[in-house]
Amino acid sequence: MSFASLSLSPLLVRAVSELEYDEPTPVQMAAIPPLLQGRDLWASARTGSGKTAAFVLPMLHSLVATGAHASALAKSTRDVRSLIVVPTRELAVQIGEAIESYCAYLSPKPKTCVVVGGVSLNPQMLALRGGADIVVGTPGRLLDLAAKNALRLAHVEILVLDEADRLLSLGFEDELAKLLALLPKTRQTALFSATFPAPVQALGETHLHDPVRVNVDGGAAPASGLLVQRAIEVDTD
Ligand code: AMP
Repeated sequence: MSFASLSLSPLLVRAVSELEYDEPTPVQMAAIPPLLQGRDLWASARTGSGKTAAFVLPMLHSLVATGAHASALAKSTRDVRSLIVVPTRELAVQIGEAIESYCAYLSPKPKTCVVVGGVSLNPQMLALRGGADIVVGTPGRLLDLAAKNALRLAHVEILVLDEADRLLSLGFEDELAKLLALLPKTRQTALFSATFPAPVQALGETHLHDPVRVNVDGGAAPASGLLVQRAIEVDTD
């Protein structure tokens, strides 16, 4: 199967082919079609499975297809159209970079903001002025920005909860509940997780509507093949 046969925009297919993605990974093959149809998705996917492109490509496709990207939302609003919630800063930055690379041929480019804790709020508040097509962030910082009215989640159309098991195991349960309460009930939701302990099951059951289930690889170990792992020993300093 090719990316073109998934009915993605040719501009996205061109970008992934330049990244030397010769064919979709199993999670991409299984997740992209239902996401393009607007279905909710419950996916078991590990780091290295290609899960980022599995949720980002349909998101970008729908922005292109509606012709409403580059924040066609009124410039005076703080609305966010697509929200990707992740457990760590590193993952947020990595997803931001992936989005950037998949947007190589989109013009105008969707406006994407990465918002994470541990750095000053102000540049993120400025970046969010006028709204954003896609926001990638960690729960605490997203809540801080919403509390300061820098970001409005009431019109989110697509929500992705990435690495949901880590979101809950890292203690974000309360923040996540507060965050999800700010989103509209009518939206598309995709949940990706490597493992499905009871709290993740409960999260999925509460927030997904008639989801398509994708289970292409069990277990929590990173997928082999796409990912090279290295350990580098360093001094404490
Ligand atoms: P992820 O699981 O999303 O973190 O992706 C793991 C790595 O696989 C990243 O470096 C991606 O750029 C790469 N990747 C994703 N999809 C494909 C694909 N279809 N073919 C080759 N590499 C891919």
